[in-house]
Amino acid sequence: MKVTRRDFLKYCVGSAATLGLSGSLLGTLEKALATGGGPPIIWIAASNCTGCTVSLANRFSTSKPTDVADLFINTVNLAYHPNLMGAAGSLAVKNALNAENSGTFILAVEGGIPTAFEGRCCYVWNAIDPTTGRPRDWTAMEVVNRLAPKAHAILSIGTCASFGGMSGASPNPTGIRSVRALTGRSTINIPGCPSHPDWIVGTIAKLLAGTTVSLDSSRRPRDYFSSNVHSACPRNGQAWATTFGQQGLCLRDRGCKGPNTRSDCPTRKWNGGTNWCVGANALCIGCTESGFPDRFSPFFSSAGALPSDHDRTTQSCSSCHSPSELGGGSSSGGSGGTQQLPSGHPPTNGQSCTTCHG
Ligand code: SF4
Ligand code: SF4
Repeated sequence: MKVTRRDFLKYCVGSAATLGLSGSLLGTLEKALATGGGPPIIWIAASNCTGCTVSLANRFSTSKPTDVADLFINTVNLAYHPNLMGAAGSLAVKNALNAENSGTFILAVEGGIPTAFEGRCCYVWNAIDPTTGRPRDWTAMEVVNRLAPKAHAILSIGTCASFGGMSGASPNPTGIRSVRALTGRSTINIPGCPSHPDWIVGTIAKLLAGTTVSLDSSRRPRDYFSSNVHSACPRNGQAWATTFGQQGLCLRDRGCKGPNTRSDCPTRKWNGGTNWCVGANALCIGCTESGFPDRFSPFFSSAGALPSDHDRTTQSCSSCHSPSELGGGSSSGGSGGTQQLPSGHPPTNGQSCTTCHG
């Protein structure tokens, strides 16, 4: 199925609210598409898992346009994408170099950039070296450093490109750097592991319409990253889960990073608005934030970890804690002590220590 520029515009109009596009911006976008679209996009896959591309492709799997490859090839001027473009080999690289020489293009980078070993951990293509006149392999570091100063805008797609992310996790043996850290250029960071397709498409639509994208202090579009996950989470205010798998309870004590993570996941959701991490009874792991994953590890507070100042015990909770403090229930094996539960410990509702603690 061919997807036309008109289809893309119809998609943007139909999804204006969720993509964060205003009416006036849609008018500008219509003019841009009517005159042949905006600048070409060169999408470089550096050190990545292709998860962000898969996420982007998933956006169109259930509604028209259904095929993101058609969308990018026939609607937006996608000059180069190693996974989505039809061309391959030298023809594909030629497309990218033509776009580079066209005077104005958008550079999108997925993945962190390896800088150790002179960048040789990640090659992106084979092309003529202008100094020798001979073909050779080019590293992601070389290509991004060459394209970035010429780009109309630079999109860092996913947390790897935005902040280092999974590809730069400790001990970071390949010396991964974010696009901004490598090039020193202004970037629009669209993090997430993976990035949400709406965040990518909405930002590209704004760039094509010539609109300035408002960014937060981490250079993320404010349209999608203005509030933290916790504030919009439907489990905010619910009792804290004491172990995993307890439906509907707040996962804060199990390690949820929602209070320290900015994104609109609770309202936008994923897979066409089907669900999101906490909705699936998993917890937020902070994947849209700088420093992910190291700063947020361990992801899970082990159900069973005693508070740091708590003596190892084989007794029931009620051996030391009073029934009222334990939530009204009475645990087996004790008559009720007087010790306070550690601060922040939820009521145990009559469970024994070993229900949660190993
Ligand atoms: S941000 Fe996550 S999903 Fe995207 S390329 Fe990196 S590891 Fe893969
Ligand atoms: S589950 Fe996480 S995001 Fe939701 S209210 Fe609890 S701590 Fe906040």
